[in-house]
Amino acid sequence: MANGIMKTIVGKLVILGDGGVGKTSLITRYTQKAFNLNISSTIGASFFTCKTNIDNAIVRLQIWDTAGQERFKAMTPMFYRNANAALLVFDITCLDSFGNMQTWAQQLKGNVVEPMVLCVIGNKIDLSENRVSREEALQYANSIGAQYFECSAKEDQGIGQVFETISRDLIRLS
Ligand code: GDP
Ligand code: MG
Repeated sequence: MANGIMKTIVGKLVILGDGGVGKTSLITRYTQKAFNLNISSTIGASFFTCKTNIDNAIVRLQIWDTAGQERFKAMTPMFYRNANAALLVFDITCLDSFGNMQTWAQQLKGNVVEPMVLCVIGNKIDLSENRVSREEALQYANSIGAQYFECSAKEDQGIGQVFETISRDLIRLS
């Protein structure tokens, strides 16, 4: 940096969606490549921290994952506290997980102070049978004010783009 001063942005990202859609796999895939990784466990949730340099800014992201409580669709208030970004994840081959996006979106909106960066993620695009269409998912995401991305945690597709977008949007909102 020419002037030696970089803006630092701190974000808290929560990841929601039904069990088995690939939330932990997506985060693991991303954070294994990121710098300054810490892994901590707290009661009922786990979080990872990572630091990214982008657009002449430093984004410190705390990423909160569920630890099985998604089965009861009841996350603790601590999970949502101060979150300013969220990923709502479904499995493109599991229609139920797509249908449940609405429940997760409502929970999120009831627990978080806006504005926030919101992304819907259709995961498992390496599979194709009985797939939720991109058009339908995109339309749903738009209806809740979210961006839509398709990913594969298994084959490492689309994940970098999601986190780049989140970082840029957090810088823009700051
Ligand atoms: P979570 O319960 O939402 O955290 O889901 P997990 O990350 O534990 O993944 C659930 C299962 O889906 C595991 O067997 C993963 O290996 C598998 N899985 C996760 N992401 C993908 C993906 O992109 N493609 C495929 N084919 N399987 C995946
Ligand atoms: Mg998990």
